[in-house]
Amino acid sequence: MISEKLKIVQEKISEKCKEANRDTSEIKLIAVSKNFGLDAIQAAYDEGIRDFGENKAQELDAKFASFENKIIWHFIGNLQRNKVRFVVNSAEYIHSVDSLLLASEINKYAGKINKIQKILLQVKTSNEETKSGIIGESELRDIAFYCREFHNIELIGLMTIAPFTENRDLIKKSFRTLYKLKNKLNAEGLNLKELSMGMTSDFDLAIEEGATMLRIGSAIFGERDYSKDWKEKL
Ligand SMILES: *Cc1c(COP(=O)(O)O)cnc(C)c1O
Repeated sequence: MISEKLKIVQEKISEKCKEANRDTSEIKLIAVSKNFGLDAIQAAYDEGIRDFGENKAQELDAKFASFENKIIWHFIGNLQRNKVRFVVNSAEYIHSVDSLLLASEINKYAGKINKIQKILLQVKTSNEETKSGIIGESELRDIAFYCREFHNIELIGLMTIAPFTENRDLIKKSFRTLYKLKNKLNAEGLNLKELSMGMTSDFDLAIEEGATMLRIGSAIFGERDYSKDWKEKL
């Protein structure tokens, strides 16, 4: 049951916040509903969840249409430039901006529909081959400062995905890297507030390291069944 799973997650978040001397109000829980159907989203919605995360433009677009404006959508996946308009139409936040070209495209489309699009820059904080994100501090700085020229973008923070490993120290290190980058950029004149980090297997560490947005899927909805396409579940 989603309500029970959700309760467990929320209790774990409060416990961890207490340990880390943080207030739970600093932390936004984003329920990652990718590959789950509308019934699962509705069940979490009925439990009071309003923030949901999706990683595919078309899937988000379809789900957005079903829920009108009741839900705050977060786009957390790899975004191709030709899909930008779907995502800008539906997402309150785009967490996965990893190039200036993409930021520029988002700005352009947001301008067309008169929107200020909230974005986060995705940073690669580990050496894993498969993780996307901006590599290197100087490139991040360049992109982050350049975003100030884009009048239809509001850069609100940084996002990362920890390496896929059992080694908790490496995961913690990756989160700490993101935290330090945020502080550094803010010391140089930016005003980044959000750190989007932490998933089902590592959100406890993310809370310790300063996360403000947790992206949690399977702990809330159960294991994802990839044998069926999302379209079959709507
Ligand atoms: C799927 C996904 C999550 C959630 O993963 P779980 O392990 O199910 O909590 C978080 N962030 C991103 C970018 C994802 O693609």
